[in-house]
Amino acid sequence: MSWNHRIHQALQQRQQQHLQRQRQTLNSAQGPVVRLNGNALINFCSNDYLGLAGAGGKALAAATQQWQLGSGASHLVCGHSSAHDELERALARHTGYPRALLFSSGFMANLGTIAALAQRGDYILQDKLNHASLLDGAQLSRARLQRYRHLDYRHLQQLLSDHSAGESKGKGGETLIVSDSIFSMDGDLADVAQLSSLAQQHQALLMIDDAHGFGILEAADQTSGGGARAHFGLTAEQLPVYVGTLGKALGGYGAFVAGSDELIDYLIQFARPYIYTTALPPALAEAMLANLELLQQPQRRQQLQQHIQYFRQQAAALALPLMPSQSAIQPLLIGDARRALHISEQLKQRGLWVSAIRPPTVPDGSARLRITLTASHSRDQIDRLLAALARVLE
Ligand SMILES: *Cc1c(COP(=O)(O)O)cnc(C)c1O
Repeated sequence: MSWNHRIHQALQQRQQQHLQRQRQTLNSAQGPVVRLNGNALINFCSNDYLGLAGAGGKALAAATQQWQLGSGASHLVCGHSSAHDELERALARHTGYPRALLFSSGFMANLGTIAALAQRGDYILQDKLNHASLLDGAQLSRARLQRYRHLDYRHLQQLLSDHSAGESKGKGGETLIVSDSIFSMDGDLADVAQLSSLAQQHQALLMIDDAHGFGILEAADQTSGGGARAHFGLTAEQLPVYVGTLGKALGGYGAFVAGSDELIDYLIQFARPYIYTTALPPALAEAMLANLELLQQPQRRQQLQQHIQYFRQQAAALALPLMPSQSAIQPLLIGDARRALHISEQLKQRGLWVSAIRPPTVPDGSARLRITLTASHSRDQIDRLLAALARVLE
């Protein structure tokens, strides 16, 4: 069997199963309405939950005057600037940690952090629906990976207990528990407080990927959108490894890990996707700092929450197949991949863009429409979506 044959066969198989993915090429900036192949579509696909992807352009243009385009090198060579430094300090303050470390993307932050922390002989426990980058990080670390059933903390406890029993028989190794906060394809929320207490009981380290929660989840007093730690009222010690991304609610690009002084020092020394890659453009870091300041105002988060409540209420009245999500990610479960694709196509003909998410991104038989709401949508746009969904799903 030749390489060509293998590649050809894999592609053919994808197509036959209706699982082939295709890129859609935008002709406009990201926003609640985008242009696709010349047509204007109301966009319910993006992770730009607060509408900041379209808002940071001016800040970026201004920052480019000072910093020009590239960082020129990795952070440890000569690519680290005061713009990066200020953003890291602001992210640490915002999330309530002693320090933060910028990565070029969330994928790299997760890969680099897990692979730097865990080693052969360690034990990594992950939610079955964790993001691909978390699972890949575990592979890369050479530690033993076991996945517990989605949000099933009894299963997790069982695995932790089994492991402790093994440990007392001399099988050493540290334990790392890793979970998404808000799950990217389901929109539901991990019980991070429970994960934290399980981790403490079993002397395990807890790492939370808050890609969809950073900027959105907030403390009960709704002050600043400080993320999953603030939302669950945990201290930095109770949630020692926190990952946030800048490409979703913050509307830009990049990611960070927040934690203790020593954790950050350790990652600077040992996280290979941090060390061996070009630093983010410093102008981008400065633009992200401007967007971070916008999070101090609650209006965008409040607008988003109102849209979520409204959408769920109306969708329930229409008996649409809602999933148990309180977040901006509101999937409708369809099941069959081909049907999901067909519905997505029908919506597009009505001027609405909703992506069909199919295996292997989600488990077999659970293809879905992944609707994402943002603060920049209008009530009227959401009404149009609901009316079209009622029509095509009847
Ligand atoms: C998007 C996402 C990532 C990856 O972040 P990027 O900055 O886009 O690379 C990581 N984890 C989760 C849960 C995500 O949804």
